[in-house]
Amino acid sequence: MPASPTSSAIDMPPDPGLAPVSTLPGVGPALAEALARLGLERVQDLWFHLPLRYEDRTRIEAIADLRVGERAQVEGVVEAVERGFRYRPQLKVAISDASAQTLVLRFFHFHRAQAEQLKPGVRLLVYGEARHGAQGMEMVHPQYQRLLDDVPPAMEDRLTPVYPTTEGLGPKRLAGVIAKALAVLPPDHQLELIPPELGAAHGLTSLREALLYVHRPPPDAHLGQLTLGRHPAQQRLAFEELLTQHLSLKRMRAAVKRRRAPMLGGDGALRQRLLDSLPFALTGAQRRVSDDVAADLAKKHPMLRLVQGDVGSGKTVVAALAALAAVESGRQVALMAPTELLAEQHLRSFRHWLQPLGVEVEWLAGKVTGKARQRALERVAAGAPVVIGTHALMQEGVDFARLGLVIVDEQHRFGVQQRLSLRDKGLEGDQVPHQLVLTATPIPRTLAMSAYADLDVSSIDELPPGRTPVQTIAISNARRAEVIERIHSACLEGRQVYWVCTLIEETEQLRAQAAEVAYAELSGALRDCHVGLIHGRMKPKEKQAVMDAFKQGELAVLVATTVIEVGVDVPNASLMVIENSERLGLAQLHQLRGRVGRGAVASNCVLLYQPPLGTLARERLQVMRDTNDGFRIAEKDLELRGPGEVLGTRQTGQLSFRIADLSRDAHLLPAVQAVGTAMLRDHAGQAERLIERWIGGAARYVHA
Ligand code: ADP
Ligand code: MG
Repeated sequence: MPASPTSSAIDMPPDPGLAPVSTLPGVGPALAEALARLGLERVQDLWFHLPLRYEDRTRIEAIADLRVGERAQVEGVVEAVERGFRYRPQLKVAISDASAQTLVLRFFHFHRAQAEQLKPGVRLLVYGEARHGAQGMEMVHPQYQRLLDDVPPAMEDRLTPVYPTTEGLGPKRLAGVIAKALAVLPPDHQLELIPPELGAAHGLTSLREALLYVHRPPPDAHLGQLTLGRHPAQQRLAFEELLTQHLSLKRMRAAVKRRRAPMLGGDGALRQRLLDSLPFALTGAQRRVSDDVAADLAKKHPMLRLVQGDVGSGKTVVAALAALAAVESGRQVALMAPTELLAEQHLRSFRHWLQPLGVEVEWLAGKVTGKARQRALERVAAGAPVVIGTHALMQEGVDFARLGLVIVDEQHRFGVQQRLSLRDKGLEGDQVPHQLVLTATPIPRTLAMSAYADLDVSSIDELPPGRTPVQTIAISNARRAEVIERIHSACLEGRQVYWVCTLIEETEQLRAQAAEVAYAELSGALRDCHVGLIHGRMKPKEKQAVMDAFKQGELAVLVATTVIEVGVDVPNASLMVIENSERLGLAQLHQLRGRVGRGAVASNCVLLYQPPLGTLARERLQVMRDTNDGFRIAEKDLELRGPGEVLGTRQTGQLSFRIADLSRDAHLLPAVQAVGTAMLRDHAGQAERLIERWIGGAARYVHA
């Protein structure tokens, strides 16, 4: 009777995947070291080191049939050789084949021996990318090998995998080691870590076959499908990788949840006083989410909660209520925001709300230096109740006395590691602070399920009453004068306007310059209106003065760079012009537009664009005109850009995939979740081994 996967450890043969690579024949210390640089330490790491692409060396193409841009293998005899030195040394070798066509091989780097070997009459097997040359088809730096006379070239019987590699480890050598590792691939029942009944329930095919297929596809494999990662064998592996990621986030979450946190029940007195002092009542959604948060905080295990809410949905007051729960319980709160401007905005809201209640709010940003910083640090170390700042909060030397709650705004700008490092400032024995993460980037459900599996998610899915949706139009820059005229009349009606300059890839300095140019233009054109300017190169005090003036209505027009993208809140501003809107992504456009439509007045957004518009840009502007709904925009964004970009650091940091692609493979996620839940419940050991297999060393650095 064959060993079943659930048989006891005694009759299970040792797992060959766990053996170090040096146990493979021909792998000495030097090679093992080179492999280690790629993170390949054990045999199973080699199994899961997947090809980037494939080369087809299973057949020989006639030179006459070569197509530009295609990689192919040809066989030919050297006709002529030319060494040139005109601009730089180069070697041109003309070969021809039975199709009587000539192909030029061109080398810019070559050894003398190489040049001497390539003599007329020599037979070559060549692989490379065909392109147009001066004398017909050519290949630059093709791979080639000399063929012995009369011996037919040995063809590969499989597509040739090309693996990601590192300096000092040639592709052939790496492929050779991987082939050796595959030779010890155990039979299915031993290799498989997903319990067979779960696999069967979700139609999973054999892992062993999938691995053998992706490493050595047969000649008739669908290369197009393989290149896109849509082959069933790749999908099988993508499933396992997504499952592993899900398990690893869940495990991290479980580890955090097992730890202790201070119970921040509080008596509700400060919170009630804040609510009484607000000029508005909370929306139903704000109340519901605040209740979720309060319930979490009162527990003796840490909260891990993401609050998502569209721009303007009122996340700040929810954060303030959470902060007061901590303060009522005698604990400190740290609030971290990704930009200085946003942190300052929070500072003002919090001071405005909390100081009347006798709760001091401390400020700690990068620009706070010298004595002021020293004093702030002392107060934080002595137990200042609320501390607001930027990344500076995470620096060495910032010590909290009794940190109980960490609030991180606009999470997608921070990596998981950063969030954890702030949290670690609150470690006290086995106690960790609670974590509240705020994001205005609505995360499509499929992504949230997968990428945020370590967080509970609450949505503020309702805007405060009285908001009117922003009317959006797109106008060509050719009609700029008209737009300026329109701003003029809006100002005369007492409306306030943002004019946003967007120079995205350039430096802060160039961005500032572009804003200065627009500022000069608008100040000139709108002589009877007050125009202000704000950009990232200004001192915090100057920025603050400008924002205050705008908020108080002393400025009618604010020319700004994208520094105002997040958090800025001036309800009376009701018109926004975004220059070069065609260059911005949907998420950023939505964030920017969220600066208007915050008051009761009807608001407008003008997307100025520089024609001609590309297809994607046209589509983005269309989406912006069609909807104000952050969730719909996020879905569309995901479709247009892919999840890596949508999730930012979160995706590229801890959660980079070898084979899976969240938008391509989103259809796998429901099954991934189901299998993941069952495995964590019934097969925790197997789950652990899956994480070891796919994430291995990397997982050891992500401390829960
Ligand atoms: P965001 O979710 O984008 O961070 P804010 O917290 O900045 O939103 O809130 C946007 C504006 O709405 C602020 O001026 C805030 O005071 C106001 N606001 C928040 N909640 C309500 C509410 N329930 N009713 C009316 N206005 C509210
Ligand atoms: Mg906000």
